[in-house]
Amino acid sequence: MEQKKKGSQKWAITYRYIKLVGGIMEHIKMILFDLDDTLVHFDDYWEISVKEAFINHSFTKDLDSNILFEIFNTVDRHLVQKLDSQQISINEYRVQRFLNSMEQVGRKPNIEMANDFERFYQSIGKKNMKPNFSVNGLIEELKDYYQIGVLTNGSKGWQLDKLEAIGLNAIFSKDYVFISEDIGYEKPSREIYHHVLKTVSLKPYQVLVVGDSWTNDVVGPIQQGMQAIWLNKKKIKPPLEPSPLATINHLLELREILLLPFLRNQASVEKAKNH
Ligand SMILES: [Mg+2]
Repeated sequence: MEQKKKGSQKWAITYRYIKLVGGIMEHIKMILFDLDDTLVHFDDYWEISVKEAFINHSFTKDLDSNILFEIFNTVDRHLVQKLDSQQISINEYRVQRFLNSMEQVGRKPNIEMANDFERFYQSIGKKNMKPNFSVNGLIEELKDYYQIGVLTNGSKGWQLDKLEAIGLNAIFSKDYVFISEDIGYEKPSREIYHHVLKTVSLKPYQVLVVGDSWTNDVVGPIQQGMQAIWLNKKKIKPPLEPSPLATINHLLELREILLLPFLRNQASVEKAKNH
């Protein structure tokens, strides 16, 4: 009984919410998903793949992979900050994290070796990424009602590899996979959102961005007049402004927000037909 009550309360809240946003949903023509930590999850492959790469790569196989991982992980965190503040490029970030880590254990590889290690790590990483069939199914369903695409920061080859590894490369049209390396600008620079809007010939309010980065997937798009849904996996306290269309903890919550308004409309049409 208690369970049922809770269920109906939840539904009542959802229903009110959908009534509220239903009007907005009708305007949305395209959904753009972020890739890293939205469709593909870093925690699923990072540690296991880096360690596997250290254990098997010719330059590092004689070293302790656990110790190396701790060093590499710390160096990576430091360099990610430099990357995010645009002090270094994505290629410099990848080369430096290997060179700096090796320096800490008294080795001096050259850039070619750093690139070789990166390629090796990526091939292992790709193998360790797993599709989420429920999420993939939902995205296929969304495709019946919206144009769908990807908007991601990163290098073209690696981002496409990730999409393939999680089984989404065939679902997204190549024309709607927007990768910063290709475009020449990164989120949250205004140019990248404008490039997308121009390419898809849509008004800003017709495009919804879904992603885990408050800065790149919520603030950036909203500043350009686009819609945003924030994926807040770690349930951290959101800043007060700006206000996204919704905050979700899991991508599957998009079903209620993005599909139910359409399914409800269809149900009313069917009902009217049968009377
Ligand atoms: Mg992300």
